[in-house]
Amino acid sequence: MKNPLTKTPMNKKLIIPARIVTCDENGNILENHTIELRGNKIYSISPYDKAYAEEFDGEVIDCRDLTVTPGFVQTHIHLCQTLFRGLADDLQLLDWLQLKIFPFENAHNKDSLRISARLGINELLSGGTTTILDMGTINHQEVIFEELISSGMRAVAGKCMMDVNDLFPEFKASTESELKESFNLAKAFHNTSSGKIKYGFAPRFVLSCTEKLLRETGQMMKDFSDSIYHTHSSENKDEIAEVRKRYNKENIDYFESLGVLGDHSVLAHCVHVSDNEIKTLKKNIVRVSHCPSSNLKLGSGIANIPRFLAEEISVSLGSDGAPCNNNLSVFKEMQRASLIQKPIHGATSMDAETVFRLATIEGAKALHLQDEIGSIEPGKKADLVFMDLDRPSLPLILSGEQVYSSIVYSAEKDNVTSVMIDGNWVFRDGKSLLFDDKELFSDGKAGLKKLLRRVH
Ligand SMILES: [Zn+2]
Repeated sequence: MKNPLTKTPMNKKLIIPARIVTCDENGNILENHTIELRGNKIYSISPYDKAYAEEFDGEVIDCRDLTVTPGFVQTHIHLCQTLFRGLADDLQLLDWLQLKIFPFENAHNKDSLRISARLGINELLSGGTTTILDMGTINHQEVIFEELISSGMRAVAGKCMMDVNDLFPEFKASTESELKESFNLAKAFHNTSSGKIKYGFAPRFVLSCTEKLLRETGQMMKDFSDSIYHTHSSENKDEIAEVRKRYNKENIDYFESLGVLGDHSVLAHCVHVSDNEIKTLKKNIVRVSHCPSSNLKLGSGIANIPRFLAEEISVSLGSDGAPCNNNLSVFKEMQRASLIQKPIHGATSMDAETVFRLATIEGAKALHLQDEIGSIEPGKKADLVFMDLDRPSLPLILSGEQVYSSIVYSAEKDNVTSVMIDGNWVFRDGKSLLFDDKELFSDGKAGLKKLLRRVH
């Protein structure tokens, strides 16, 4: 019996879904089960018990038509670039940076950066991405942190560092100021937002960083336990040729020679890597962030992900920035991550479940967050995505592997109906609880117009 005098605790929730894609070690998909939340955590997962649900002294979320999955993790994002979508198409990497992205990023002020971050966060959350690794920008990085914190999103983020820039010389800062600012930002924001925010040191790539900057950043991160060393590597053939010319080394070999590779390093792309560099990635337990849409659109190439996985190298997924994709949808990344490998490695490679795990638990592992997120298991944080997979454009039978097939090959971000982080709704029944879409859209347009007038 419920005691009528006992107030209903606000922090207890019982979710009754159609199925739970747990992403646990055995890849269990549970039907006729409920998830009980207490506070920000998953308290238990149990077979559905009608009497218990009827007597439950908290919020009951009856969603027997929905599939619940872990929140998605994207390990390479540029929130600062969301405004620039569609303004930098059909270019290869170095031209894309020189002609478009560096001048645009350089023109950011606090207002334009804020709306860019908001647009990105809104798009990611409404598509089920609850955790990101973001590479910020040179100036006003605190604005990105403010927006991440006020959204409640889980993120590893940091100021993008550049102290060399032959492509667009005015977009850089001194080595000393880059190091000092990064240190101060890490001190201010690492482990904030109830532990949801961590610092990711972000030297942009070899061609925009001095040896001193890369090396000392590697030293500095040791002062911030579980911070990340986040950079780009081996994305484009011209890039690696230039690295070879400057340092007489392959890109990843060069990072290793500086002593900056380890299990807290996340290298975005790794498209053009030698056999020896693959050994180096494996030996140093480096995390590879795979961004298939970006690699295709910039004509960079196709990373040998099946080989990395066979070597047990950590691989996770990222949309990269809006102007090289041009979406921030984890569903598109999952589809492409699978499909682009099949003509090369055969139709059985990169099956749907494998790819789904790259976008969830493997992303969590890459960021050392696997004890908190990445799967639906008791004790983990309640970062959950609710999807409507019961639509005629998706597989009609949803059992076993069809669930993964449905999510990876057929679903789009529109199939996401609700999203919670730490047990709090951020998106519910198709609507953001954080942002007014129309307002964001008009603020974005106005902010971009002003920014473009500042570009020179
Ligand atoms: Zn990137």
